[in-house]
Amino acid sequence: MGLIVQKFGGTSVADAPRIHRAARRAIAAKEAGNQVVVVVSAMGETTDHLIDLAKQVCEYGDCRGPSPKREMDQLLVTGEQVTIALMAMAIHAQGCQAISFTGGQIGLVTDAAFSKARIQSIEKQRVFEQLEKGKIVIIAGFQGMTPQGDFTTLGRGGSNATLVAIGAVLKADVCENYTDVDGIFTADPRLVPNARKIDRISYDEMLELAGRGASVLQTRAVEFAKKYNVPIHVRNSQNDNEGTWIVSETANMEHIVVSGAALKKELTRVTIKNVPDRPGIAARIFGDIAAGNIVVDDIIQNVMDDRTANISFTVERGELGDLKVVVERIVKELGQAKATYQDGLAKVSVVGVGMRVHTGVAQRMFAALADAKINIQNITTSEIKISCIIDEADGPRALRLVHDAFELHKLK
Ligand code: ASP
Ligand code: MG
Repeated sequence: MGLIVQKFGGTSVADAPRIHRAARRAIAAKEAGNQVVVVVSAMGETTDHLIDLAKQVCEYGDCRGPSPKREMDQLLVTGEQVTIALMAMAIHAQGCQAISFTGGQIGLVTDAAFSKARIQSIEKQRVFEQLEKGKIVIIAGFQGMTPQGDFTTLGRGGSNATLVAIGAVLKADVCENYTDVDGIFTADPRLVPNARKIDRISYDEMLELAGRGASVLQTRAVEFAKKYNVPIHVRNSQNDNEGTWIVSETANMEHIVVSGAALKKELTRVTIKNVPDRPGIAARIFGDIAAGNIVVDDIIQNVMDDRTANISFTVERGELGDLKVVVERIVKELGQAKATYQDGLAKVSVVGVGMRVHTGVAQRMFAALADAKINIQNITTSEIKISCIIDEADGPRALRLVHDAFELHKLK
């Protein structure tokens, strides 16, 4: 007998039949002798519709204000709240006991960074009490509550963070992540038709893939899983196939040079020129940006002959509104500095723990792009990843080219 946390994403609970199918899975796991906790997302595209509705209201007529973040979260948490109640009803209707909870009801406390709050603690007692009574416990994904009692959300795709956090505090044997695909693929199969399902992948590889645009799992969720060593099994809610296991690294994983490729679109590069070349300036700039809860990557600094520096970095287009406010303030304070913004960029990456022991990986990637006359604008690397910033228009083609270059379709 074990403890299983299952999570069903939006498509897996999109309508009554699917909710019943998910309920049946939870019941099957229970009947196999396990304690079962189920985390659910909002049904289908509910979250997108709510975001659109907010936009309609906030941009009505001459109104131009962005929606206040606190109210946005107040709105978005309703999506998951609908699903938990319906899921509990479906389990009851199938003759089993269940009880549903919002994030706040199980003491899932977060900081007050609305729209991308971080989980601080969870009161597991309430969940355990119900499990011990033999009930299946249903928990709303993607949401939490500040110590003051305000609703927060954990960022898009945040139900995965809930899944893993719950799995970690309850010390679950496995976190099962049910989606509408068979697992994690060597690249997005919608862009690369011959992409293959990966059987096992390490946390670190998954982190690099998630951060580079493979959207199945949020980065934060994987970080959490790694920290608490919770295995995640990503699988299809429509069939019983084995999916992809995300686990600690094992020695034989290094045999594979590259495990996957990913494309991240909608990037903007910010360049701040004429920055004084003195100790402490970069710390100031990125300190202010981090204080605004804005995620940046691919930071590049060049020092010029006149003792000034150019600093550039990329952000997701969605962050630009918040970021510009911070950057323009910094530029003003630095005096002669000037910021420019270049839109329409994408990043193609290859990832694999095998890069630590194999050579020539970067050259192979650059050659594949060069042969197709795709211009590489920036290059960044980590121990297990190589990324190239390119024109967004070249993105999907670049992804297919590097996937072919490393013969990822043949991976086993
Ligand atoms: N419903 C939220 C979203 O669509 C959270 C999730 O699905 O994980 O982003
Ligand atoms: Mg969703």
